[in-house]
Amino acid sequence: MARMFKIAVFEGDGIGPEIMKPTVDILRDLANASDAYDLSFETLPAGAAHYAVTGESLPAASLEAAGKADAILLSAMGLPDVRYEDGTEISPQIDLRKTFQLFAGVRPVRIAHGQHSPMKIPNGHAIDFVLIRESTEGLFHSQGKGTVTTDKAEETMRITRDVSEKLFHFAFQLARDRKGMGQGKGRVTCVDKANVFRAFAFFRGIFDEIAKDFPDLHADHAYVDATALWMVQKPWDFDVMVTENMFGDILSDLGAGLMGGLGLAPSADIGMNHAVFQPCHGSAPDIAGLEKANPMAMILSAAMMLEWLGLRHDIRAMTTDGTRLRGAVENIMAECKTITPDFGGIATTGQVAQAVSAALAT
Ligand code: NAD
Repeated sequence: MARMFKIAVFEGDGIGPEIMKPTVDILRDLANASDAYDLSFETLPAGAAHYAVTGESLPAASLEAAGKADAILLSAMGLPDVRYEDGTEISPQIDLRKTFQLFAGVRPVRIAHGQHSPMKIPNGHAIDFVLIRESTEGLFHSQGKGTVTTDKAEETMRITRDVSEKLFHFAFQLARDRKGMGQGKGRVTCVDKANVFRAFAFFRGIFDEIAKDFPDLHADHAYVDATALWMVQKPWDFDVMVTENMFGDILSDLGAGLMGGLGLAPSADIGMNHAVFQPCHGSAPDIAGLEKANPMAMILSAAMMLEWLGLRHDIRAMTTDGTRLRGAVENIMAECKTITPDFGGIATTGQVAQAVSAALAT
């Protein structure tokens, strides 16, 4: 009998509902065609538009339902004009990360053969690496806690042993899984600034300890400034990279740039018991309602969700469907025919999603 999984859905703001609907339709079709798994979807209220009407950005009932789901699918939340009284924007996606302790921000960077990219990739090389951004502490620990006087501003970075151990274990396990699937080189790179800051020497020391548990993998280190250079000069060298929150925030946008834009950049925020899958981009209010939104980052995030659920629950058909879904997206991007304006095409959101469905059906 097919195993049922509950998916909590946050449609979000701006282009959010436009890219979420076709993504859920695709997932439903995949599940309907499978004997091994089934999916049920529960759409939960949250976001900037919800806040503007109700005064609540992430209702307690939505948080509770999300906590009971097997996985959380989120588009994008926030609108520049909708703010709390202190002037900051509402960001339930960050609240979810904190509440569910989603320490591993997984940002894959892949450029399929033939796909348009600002990078010139030499023959025999492929860009296929994963950046893991610690997502609960680091410099972001200071969010809302920094001090500012007339002469001085201070923010404090926090690195803990507990979170770092889980983070590095996750990174090495991912590299092992990728190698097992013939996808990666079995290499994990710790990206830090251990030459200057004691906190990063501590971070690196824990990385080296965890590396000993994975003798089948190659572990090495790189400073963050050199990493930014190498991500442009020789991105094909990387496999799994793991870094602190702020460094990861910056490097993941560089990774999206390598792929040609945010419209193709998926992500997952993963903890021990929960995971949120969402595109890297925001709610793009400038193109909301115009049918110009690229749904691919959202669809690729859904593919990551299927792969994660399949691996976690040992359902091979689910992992395979995730990989098939990613393959369909990559083929369409490589054909360069049905693509949205952000990648130089003229196709609408609906036409691109339809092309993905058609590719899966063949
Ligand atoms: P954004 O990512 O929404 O948009 C930046 C640019 O990229 C815009 O020109 C937009 O049109 C384009 N773009 C983004 N996604 C696209 C897609 N799928 N297809 C085609 N073009 C796309 O960033 P922003 O403008 O800085 O932020 C807008 C709102 O989103 C803000 O309120 C911000 O706080 C919020 N935001 C939310 C998240 C999240 O939910 N994780 C992340 C970033 C920003």
